[in-house]
Amino acid sequence: MEKVKRVHTRFPPEPNGYLHIGHAKSICLNFGIAQEFNGLCNLRFDDTNPSKEDVEYVESIKEDVKWLGFSWDDRLYYASDYFEQLYEFAVKLIKKGKAYVCDLSAEEIREYRGTLTQPGKDSPYRNRSIEENLELFENMRKGLYPSGSRVLRAKIDMSSPNLNMRDPVIYRIMHETHHRTGDKWCIYPMYDFAHPLSDALERITHSICTMEFEDHRPLYDWFIEQLIDDEDKPKQIEFARLELTNTVMSKRKLRLLVEKGFVQGWDDPRMPTISGLRRRGFTPEAIRDFCNRIGVAKANSVVDIALLEHCLREDLNSKAPRVMAVLDPVKVVILNYPEDKEEIIIAENNPENPAAGTRTLKFSRVIYIERDDFMENPPSKYFRLSPGKEVRLKYAYIIKCENVIKDTNGEILEIHCTYDPETKSGGSAANRKVKGTLHWVSASEAVKAEIRLYDYLINSEQQADEDQTENDEFLTKINPNSLSILKNCLVESSLCKALPGDKFQFLRQGYFCADLKDHSPDHLVFNRIVGLRDSWSKINKQQK
Ligand code: ATP
Ligand code: MG
Repeated sequence: MEKVKRVHTRFPPEPNGYLHIGHAKSICLNFGIAQEFNGLCNLRFDDTNPSKEDVEYVESIKEDVKWLGFSWDDRLYYASDYFEQLYEFAVKLIKKGKAYVCDLSAEEIREYRGTLTQPGKDSPYRNRSIEENLELFENMRKGLYPSGSRVLRAKIDMSSPNLNMRDPVIYRIMHETHHRTGDKWCIYPMYDFAHPLSDALERITHSICTMEFEDHRPLYDWFIEQLIDDEDKPKQIEFARLELTNTVMSKRKLRLLVEKGFVQGWDDPRMPTISGLRRRGFTPEAIRDFCNRIGVAKANSVVDIALLEHCLREDLNSKAPRVMAVLDPVKVVILNYPEDKEEIIIAENNPENPAAGTRTLKFSRVIYIERDDFMENPPSKYFRLSPGKEVRLKYAYIIKCENVIKDTNGEILEIHCTYDPETKSGGSAANRKVKGTLHWVSASEAVKAEIRLYDYLINSEQQADEDQTENDEFLTKINPNSLSILKNCLVESSLCKALPGDKFQFLRQGYFCADLKDHSPDHLVFNRIVGLRDSWSKINKQQK
């Protein structure tokens, strides 16, 4: 009978930047597989490069994994916790005659390595004795040599068709302070060495990583073969990384956007980082749903960002209360409505969810509607407000435009209307049909709000294809209009109670989220997460 296989995975971020939606795919995969097969998943920081890493990143990564809905319980590890054991592994390799200290410069090592079509050349230091190697490596640890002057290399095969097997560097000298081990170490293991051995120390069964590590797998297996006796050896399995249209995803590029001021930080709501998506208003449920739908494969493909937005709409449709907000207000005066009158109107919170209940709105002689819901000379199929035409005000009356008042520049100051008192719910003409229904807020309860509208960071849909390249051409494709700030919006007064992070559907305008940083009861700030039109389901319907 076959032994039941244990499942133990890990998510291994390097704390050198904030997590992005691509990492979310890896998180959902690693933690998801563990859940599915009754296994465990560790969170392990791959912190082997002190020059680029920082505790700020460690903290943000922990927060993001938790927020996505996953728990590592008590299994939080750091590769730096294994520095002593990794050192011992390196000594073991030297003793087996499988590693040597090399004094070639980085540039010489590159030259000696050869190319895909030419074999490499042996280093002149390759045949140092085991004793000499042991002494030199110990001296490296003691700090006797300057940074970069020597390295420890695995002794494998300089003519291997796989460049990674041509005596790869496994330790380097770096006189730098590490965010966790301080100045204890001045030699640091390379990723390719630290990673498989950390996996083995944690008794990981499935070491899931992205396709670019496929060529590193023979090296992964070589280290395990040489150094690990455990019968249950970790296995590396690759999958295609997530690429998304209209954004960039490499940490280096995201950092560039932050450093050059194209965005206001790692958590800018335009960023594809988890913290940016959270601040924008995306929910963990929507992100997990997205990660499930895109699936896991070996072939690289670019996913349309519209799918992510579709998942968000699906999630918020039943959750987000409907409210009214006028982004670009124009004043409407209802001439036949008494000046001193104010009515209470009942509005439903969410037609998709009767349990969401109702709230009250005020109606008065002066109200505001969207400036672009009125046209003085409309085309034939225009069903919003225009001179002599009628529209319904959502939850309230039908009004008819009688006249417009303009300033000397022709800008509309006021729209004068009359209303039909019998068209309110319960009135004798409550069911009278008109083609258009508008959202509105009454002057008697309107509250000022700042609304931030976002567009894609990158204009070109093809950008993601190029994301793997290291050049900075993407900077030329940055959308200069990715943020518009509207400062004079008017919203219904129920929104004064909104807390940072609360999400709403603003009728006819999209889904919005009270900003996590800048929103307060005295200064309402809402981010538009997405508009209402779902280009993804439209494409899907066309295909069917
Ligand atoms: P960089 O972007 O700087 O090359 P990285 O994104 O690989 O770095 P890590 O911290 O090493 O950053 O990533 C942690 C894990 O997340 C790795 O297992 C990596 O394979 C995975 N990962 C990173 N980017 C993606 C992506 N776009 N899609 C899926 N998984 C990813
Ligand atoms: Mg990486």
